[in-house]
Amino acid sequence: MNIETIAIHAGNKIDETSKAVVQPITLSTTFERGFDGSFPSGFQYTRAANPNRQSLESVICGLENGAEACAFSSGNAAGAAVFQALEPGSHVIVPTDMYHGLKALINEVYANRILDISFVDLSDIKIVKAAVKPHTTKLIWIETPSNPLLKISDITSICEIAEDNGAVVCCDNTFATPIFQRPLELGADLVMHSSTKYFGGHSDVLGGALVCKEKNELWERIKNIQTLSGAVPSPFDCYMAVRGIKTLPYRMKGHANNARKIAEYLENHPQVEKVFYPGLLSHEGYNVAKTQMCGFSGMLSFTLKQGENAAIKFANSLKLIIRATSLGGVESLIEHRASVEGPDTKTPFNLLRLSVGLESAEDLLEDLEQAFSSL
Ligand SMILES: *Cc1c(COP(=O)(O)O)cnc(C)c1O
Repeated sequence: MNIETIAIHAGNKIDETSKAVVQPITLSTTFERGFDGSFPSGFQYTRAANPNRQSLESVICGLENGAEACAFSSGNAAGAAVFQALEPGSHVIVPTDMYHGLKALINEVYANRILDISFVDLSDIKIVKAAVKPHTTKLIWIETPSNPLLKISDITSICEIAEDNGAVVCCDNTFATPIFQRPLELGADLVMHSSTKYFGGHSDVLGGALVCKEKNELWERIKNIQTLSGAVPSPFDCYMAVRGIKTLPYRMKGHANNARKIAEYLENHPQVEKVFYPGLLSHEGYNVAKTQMCGFSGMLSFTLKQGENAAIKFANSLKLIIRATSLGGVESLIEHRASVEGPDTKTPFNLLRLSVGLESAEDLLEDLEQAFSSL
C-alpha cells in the first residue's frame, strides 16, 4: 500500500454497531470482562490500551514501516521512555544540535546521575566513530534534520557504527516525517516523533510516538514504561492526531514546496547572511540529505547580516508569519531560537527559525519582503 492510503486507512476502524465511517472517540477508562474474567475486546484499562490510541499507533507504525508503535502524551515523554529503558550507567551519544527541550531533559534528569552522555556533532562520521566507547555505548540518538541548524546526519553510516559496537540507534524523525524519510528502512532500531508537530499538523494537539523495527527485549521494556508510567495521550488527543495524519502526505508536499521557494528567495537576499535548508545545493548536508530523504520538508533557518537586534525586529515586523515557538502547523511560525534556548545556547544570535506553513507562497514572500524593508 502507498503512503497516502496508509495515512487515511491504517488509523481508522469502522464501528461495528453504528457503522460510523470515522472511528468514534472511546472515553471509557474501563472495559467489561467476559464471564471467565477475560477481556473479550482486548481492552482492559485505558492506561494500558484504548481503541483510539491503538488506531493512532497502527497508522504511525504503518507510515514508518515498523513492527509496532507506542503513542505517548508528548514527544519528550516518548524520548524519556527510551532513556529510561537503558541500563543505568550506559553511555549514550546525542547530537550537540538537537531539540532544546529534549536536550534539557537529558542534561537535567539523565546526565551524570543515571546515564553517561556525550554530546557530539553527528553530522561528522569521524567524530561519531571517535565518540563510541567499546562495550558501554548503548544508544546513538540521531536528529536529522536537526533543530535549529538543519544539520544532516548520515543515518546508514551511523547505524553501521552502532551495530559494530552493539548499540542501538533511535532517530528523531519529527522534522522530516515518514513522508520524506524512513529511518527504520535505513537501519535505525527506533524512530521517535513529536506528533505535536507535522502529525497533528494544526498546532492543537500534544503528543509523541516511538516505533520499533523489531519487537525485542528493549522494545518490551519501552512498552512496559509506557503502560506503567502512564504518559499516554488521551482518547481525544489520539483522535486529533489520527485526523491530522490523514492529510499528512499532502500537507508535507505543500510545506516542502513553500519552504523551497522561501529558501531560494532568502539565499538571494542581500540582508541574509546564510540559509540553512537541506534542499539547497549550498547546504553542507545536501549530498547526504538527497540519499536518505525524498523531500526536504518545511523547516529552515537563516541568519541576518545585521545581527541579533535586526533578527528580533524582523520577526516582530512580520504581519502574516506569527512569532511563536513550535512548528509543523498549517500556519507559518517564526522563532528567535537563541532567546528561547537561554544563555547556554550554541545557536547563533542572529538566527531565525521558520516553520513554513501552507499559506500561499506568494503571500509569505511578500510578508518577508516587507519585514526586510522595515529594517
Ligand atoms: C517538539 C519536538 C520535540 C518534543 O516534543 P513535544 O511534543 O514538545 O514534547 C522533540 N523533538 C523535536 C525535533 C521537536 O521538534
